[in-house]
Amino acid sequence: MKNLDCRLLIAMAVAATAACARTSPELRVINDAADALGGRQKVLAVRTLTIEGEGPAPNVGQNTVPDGELPVWKVTEFKRTIDVPNHRMRTSQLRTAQFLFANANTQRQNQGLDGDVAYNIGADGTASRASAAVARDRRIELLQHPLVIVREVLDDPGTKLSGYRASGNQEIVEIETSKGEKLTLAVDAGSKLPSRVTSMSDNANMGDVAIDTAFSGYDSVSGLQLPKRITTTIDKYPQFDLTVSKNTIDGDAGDLAAPDAVTSAPVPAAPPQVVTAEPVGKGIWWLAGSGNHRSVVFEFDDHLVLYEAPLNETRSKAVIDKARSLSAKPLTHVIISHHHFDHSGGLRVAVAEGFTIITYKENVPFFNELLMRKHSIVPDELEKAPKPAKFEPVDDQLTLKDKSMEVQLYHLKENPREGTNLFAYVPRDRMLVQADLYDSTWQFHHWGANVITNIEQIRKLKVDKQVPVHGAIESYAEMVKKMRANP
Ligand SMILES: [Zn+2]
Repeated sequence: MKNLDCRLLIAMAVAATAACARTSPELRVINDAADALGGRQKVLAVRTLTIEGEGPAPNVGQNTVPDGELPVWKVTEFKRTIDVPNHRMRTSQLRTAQFLFANANTQRQNQGLDGDVAYNIGADGTASRASAAVARDRRIELLQHPLVIVREVLDDPGTKLSGYRASGNQEIVEIETSKGEKLTLAVDAGSKLPSRVTSMSDNANMGDVAIDTAFSGYDSVSGLQLPKRITTTIDKYPQFDLTVSKNTIDGDAGDLAAPDAVTSAPVPAAPPQVVTAEPVGKGIWWLAGSGNHRSVVFEFDDHLVLYEAPLNETRSKAVIDKARSLSAKPLTHVIISHHHFDHSGGLRVAVAEGFTIITYKENVPFFNELLMRKHSIVPDELEKAPKPAKFEPVDDQLTLKDKSMEVQLYHLKENPREGTNLFAYVPRDRMLVQADLYDSTWQFHHWGANVITNIEQIRKLKVDKQVPVHGAIESYAEMVKKMRANP
């Protein structure tokens, strides 16, 4: 044998050994998936993928009652274009509310991602940079596609594979991208096509949640197998069920780079949490400030009661701190107006602070469920120091009364959108305190007639002033006028 041949053989042996060492069960699953999708070379050669279609996108945490059907946005004109090697994505869609919605029923959305830069494009074409959290979420959204995730593993040597297991007819592999994103890929053991990609994420209300995207209805396009149904769920809730009308490989994708104005703009940081306190009656403060979720503090003989702990731990903790600064009396009770996620985001911190939760009785089992959940990805106060919850469930009504204050709480009856809502009434001041019954900024007041019936006919209340969780403080007359003008 000549020297050259020997060298060649040795080189081949080294390559073969390296290949064997690399062919872990995890890599075998990826290679099988690449073959099933159309072959490694074809997968690596893809430049762009365009996905068009439509489907329902439910509004998680906004149902009428906690276990009721979710209100749904109907998404049409969905178009997502992905520049696969450059990690760029542009998504445009039209969504139309299939439920009673207080503002424009139809919204066009246009969102982008370019590497780590996320941005949104407004109706006037102006692009604005989105937060780092949005960029992270969109990266996961981008990776939750069979072609993108398999290509990512094949193309990026920094990707780590682990945790091979077989479960039923699925083969499962854990993937960690070179950016540290962790995803679980499941591949059908028969067809070898990816069936789902799952990633864990933090949700203010639910804590650790799985964002799971399932793929089905594979169809051949330009020699590649691509899914025609893409279904995303967050925890147990459906989030988007996309029926793909058309997949296009290497079509004209246009320029998917983020506009210069976006890349040069700083990443928007979370704005400081401002809480203002405006006295609205003797021993009553309206806590406003950042955002459009307000709370109200009532001062009793020897304690304070807070109406609403909204959004998340950050907002609710700031509100609690502000309430405590208003009086030397201890804050002991929090009224949670209803179960919608934006209104119950402070539930866990309220329990961690030891407060008694006053809420409509049907919220209690659901709130108990939320309280038992793990928040290990972003540990909150309750995760760090678990405490038992104290509930004071309200059936039809409850009056909180001592020498200093009287607050009557009423269940809002037969409202088409709000099944678990408690509004408050202060008879001394003829004051209504409410969440989601009315917002001075809403365009439409679909359930205004029901609210008026509740206040005037069912509860027979005389109201002069309404103090809201959303919108501005107004006279009752002004509120009724607006409700009647734009039902
Ligand atoms: Zn609301």
